[in-house]
Amino acid sequence: MDTLTGHAILADAATGGRVFQVDVVFDRGVYLPELDLWLDSLRKRDTSVVSHAHSDHIARHSSPVLTRRTRILLGDYYQRSQPVELEYGEPLETPEYSITLHPAGHCLGSAQALVVNRQSGERLLYTGDLRMQPSPINEPAEAVPCDTLVIESTYGRPDYVFPPQEEAIATAVRVIGQWLGQGAIPVVLGWRLGKAQEALHHLLTAGFGVVCEESVHDIARRYESGGVTFPGEYRVFDGDFRDGEVGIFPPGRKSREQISQSIQPGRSVRYLELTGWAAGKGEKPWGRGRPGDSSLPYSDHADFSDLVSYVEAVQPKRVYTVFGFPDLAAHLRQHGYAASHLGKNATPGDQAMQMPLL
Ligand SMILES: [Zn+2]
Repeated sequence: MDTLTGHAILADAATGGRVFQVDVVFDRGVYLPELDLWLDSLRKRDTSVVSHAHSDHIARHSSPVLTRRTRILLGDYYQRSQPVELEYGEPLETPEYSITLHPAGHCLGSAQALVVNRQSGERLLYTGDLRMQPSPINEPAEAVPCDTLVIESTYGRPDYVFPPQEEAIATAVRVIGQWLGQGAIPVVLGWRLGKAQEALHHLLTAGFGVVCEESVHDIARRYESGGVTFPGEYRVFDGDFRDGEVGIFPPGRKSREQISQSIQPGRSVRYLELTGWAAGKGEKPWGRGRPGDSSLPYSDHADFSDLVSYVEAVQPKRVYTVFGFPDLAAHLRQHGYAASHLGKNATPGDQAMQMPLL
């Protein structure tokens, strides 16, 4: 993840004539200066909420605040820290604020953080990475009403609207069956934590034999430690594909090298990529390597429609978008929300939105 920096200060008139101020700073993580609280800081802090186990949301904080399952997925990453584990809905109280974590639906253990300012009563919700569509292996996301919403906008542009997940999965199963019928080795490419384990669950459900690259296999076992049951056996890749097997590997050059070094002459490999970027018509915001033989729009993030629906569901007074396209904030402004994007790709419209409120 690139370094994104931004800063906005909003002041607003509260009911009862009292004026309260909300500060949200985005600087390699979300910071609430009034409460001296970090959320998903990428630099080491004394205390930071860690919304989920993806490497672009973590650092070795002294006291990370996270769910038990996020800690399980991170293995020994926090062995020298003093993690604060919270169940969903269980409050962490300090004199200044209380925090509760709520399911974000993005990967196992992923959490949104609701921070209530004890003095003003202000409710700030930070979504982390969010996904509203159901997954066979994640806790379903909850919509959490709030005053200030800090929401991810990875797919916050109108051309990123995904087809129903069942369609993408049915197509994947059909394509893989065809490739096997042609004598090819099908390999599904999906991010090593989260999407790969979802692919594993779907492929086992469809009755395929599955072999997983080592890190995918290791994380699948951690999912099992976190209480997830996969509907069949799977094995770790040992340099060989057996007849009828489907591989699951992380995207990237290393996987392709590892596979090409191990297949016997005469056998061909076909790659199927599961990624939300397959849905967009425009330029990708960053490179994602060589595309697969087939790319299907399947993501562990919310698409544009789900992001907009989520904002409508939680009824915020103001919205900040982070991590992605600024277009979502512009769309929300057109629909009457006080919304601005925080980050290096903020637009003049984002700043204009902030100025009158200062
Ligand atoms: Zn993530």
